[in-house]
Parts: sequence; C-alpha cells; structure tokens
Amino acid sequence: MPACRMDLADVGSPEALVKLILQAEPDLPIPVPIEDLCRQLDIMAIQDLDTDGFEGGLITDADRSEGIILVKKGVEERRRFTIGHELGHFLMPLHIPDQAGKFLCSRADMLRLKPKEGDRRQRMEVEANRFSSLILMPPTMLRRSMSGFREPDLQHIPALARDYKVSKEAMARAYVQQHGENIAIVVVKDGVLLRNYKSFSFPFITCSPGRAVPARSLLHRGPHDRGVASDFAECVADLWVDVRRGERAPKIYEQVYVQRDGCALVLLHAETVDEEEEDEERQLEDSWRVGFKAKRR
Ligand SMILES: [Zn+2]
Repeated sequence: MPACRMDLADVGSPEALVKLILQAEPDLPIPVPIEDLCRQLDIMAIQDLDTDGFEGGLITDADRSEGIILVKKGVEERRRFTIGHELGHFLMPLHIPDQAGKFLCSRADMLRLKPKEGDRRQRMEVEANRFSSLILMPPTMLRRSMSGFREPDLQHIPALARDYKVSKEAMARAYVQQHGENIAIVVVKDGVLLRNYKSFSFPFITCSPGRAVPARSLLHRGPHDRGVASDFAECVADLWVDVRRGERAPKIYEQVYVQRDGCALVLLHAETVDEEEEDEERQLEDSWRVGFKAKRR
C-alpha cells in the first residue's frame, strides 16, 4: 500500500516516519524517487529558490494540509538531500517555522548533526537532516549494499554515492554509521579540516574544524591520484586522537581520497590492540626463541 499522510500523522521522530514509509513502500527503488514520494505525501510542487544564502525552503499552512518545497538550483545530489530535508520539516508536526508558514534553511542547517542544548531551531534542522539521510539511504538497504565489503575503504564512497544519487559527503556520513568497523571520515579543503564524521566508538578527534590537517598525515605525503583511494598507511595514534597517559593507544590507519578543487576525504581506521592477543603473540614468540636457543646448545 503506498505511503499516505494519514498513516504518518502524529509521528514525531525521523526514524519512526521513515520506518512507516518503508513499510508502506517495500519495493522502493534505489535511488529513492524522492520527488515522487513528495508528491504522494501532499507536496504540491517543487520550485526553484532564489533567496540568497539559503539552500531550501518550505511553504505550508498551519494545519499542514499541503506544502510547496523550494530548492536552490544546483548539483542534483545536493538538491535531492535538500528536498528530503524539507519533506522532513513538512512531515514532523512539531516543526514550527520562525516565520509563519515558511521554513528557510541554510547550507549550515543542512550540515548540522548535533543541536546546541536547548536550541529548538537547531534540533529541528538536525531532525530534518536525519530524516533526509534515512529516506535517501535507508539503513537496511545501505547495509545490504555494503555487505560485500568487509574492510572499510574510501573507494566504496563514490560508488555508493552514485547508486543512491547522494553527495559523497552525505554518503560518507551514512557509511561511518553503518559500517561495523571503528572508523572516521575527515572532510578536507585546501589542507584544512572542515568536518569529521565518526562511528560511535571512534575516539575523539583532536584536530578541530578550521585547523590544518596534521603535517605528518598521509594527506601531505602524496602525490595522490585524483579519484583513486590511496593504500592504507599506519600512523602514530596521537596524530589524530587523544591518547591518555597509561592507556594503550589504538592502531590508526589512514587512507586518502583526493577530489577536485583541493577537496579530499581522509579515512581513519582504528584497531584496538587486544591485550590478550598481544600477550599470546609475545608468549609464542618467546617460546620460539627459547626453542631456537635450546636447539643451538
Ligand atoms: Zn531546515
């Protein structure tokens, strides 16, 4: 049965909304036909947005009987994410715009992952982003697409982004969340870290947004071919993460993917050193050494 507004009324969270839509649309193809879905869910039109400084908008009435999505002209992949974001505002009944009947969302809103505590507007933006990401890259489908790849690899990102028709950055964000390994992806422009996305248990990244990528990073040890993921190289852990005194540092491996115009992605893969395994290895090494000595005597 196709998804309809009536079944979605009063559902407040992005996760619950997407779950209901996917239940009603079990054969939703990839890439998700987001504009068709909008029309089915009472969006009457998707129009160009010309207001400077904004990526998207939504015009709707107080009782949300219907809506018009406004989206800035530009790259198709980003446009799709913006449409998903505005559909999220439209479907979530607790999302109330600053200006009666009109949401206007900036590029910074589209990138927001965590709201400032107590900031209602930012919380709405974060929820709209979660909705867009979940509807364009449904986790069960994405995990299925990723099931063939065991080890993380930046080469997967452009391929998955093409299949799901989303930007590489939107895919990188979803990839780190759905991958079973302990990974982070850092977004770089002209050698400066812009943003980082990390899996839940990846350690805190010490290089903050706006700062130069550490000088000893693989990023600076090129040349790297554009559009080709580099080999992995191990680096010292404290290049990227905080290693507390007395704590065992994880092993960190870096991989670089250089894009156009000074943009690059850096994948960080942390492997926790298993103490027991390390002890066993040491014991085995010792026993070999002892055996070897004994033979020579
Ligand atoms: Zn918004």
